[in-house]
Order: sequence, then structure tokens, then C-alpha cells
Amino acid sequence: MAIFPFILLKQLKLKQCPDLINHERIHLRQQLELLVLPFYVLYLIHYLVNRLRGQPHQQAYRNIVFEREAFTMDKNLDYLSNRGFFAWIRFL
Ligand SMILES: [Zn+2]
Repeated sequence: MAIFPFILLKQLKLKQCPDLINHERIHLRQQLELLVLPFYVLYLIHYLVNRLRGQPHQQAYRNIVFEREAFTMDKNLDYLSNRGFFAWIRFL
């Protein structure tokens, strides 16, 4: 879990998972460009809209725009080096 400016891991060994760390670093970038608090507001609104559309929890979570970007790009470890500003908008 990423709570700017920290990445919180359930277990220390997860620190060795480059995809997971990259995923959380993508969230940190999203949070930074939205000045942190609006990120959480948009994240929650997007989740609730997905639920109101009838999506079950896991699907609603995976379809949050910020998760779409992170899950799509987390295996590309160079992504953050080349990522444009507000790149998450492309995943709406
Ligand atoms: Zn995520």
C-alpha cells in the first residue's frame, strides 16, 4: 500500500518483488501529481461509482483508474522513467 511518501508492506520479503514495488511507486507518483489528498478522494469516488454500476468488490477495485494504470504498467520497470504527467488519464 502506498501512502505518500511511504510504501507499506505486510511482509519485509515483499520488498524483493520488483513488480509490487513498481506498482506502489506508480501510486506514489499519482498521489504526488494530485497533491495527495485529491488522489484518495478520486480513488474512493471511482470505487463507489464502480460498485454502483454493479461491479463486485474485486472488479470495482481493479477498475479504479489508478489501479488500471498501476496493474497495466507495473511489470515495466522503466515505466516511471518515461511516464508523462497525469498519464493515469489515459486509463479512464
Ligand atoms: Zn494498486
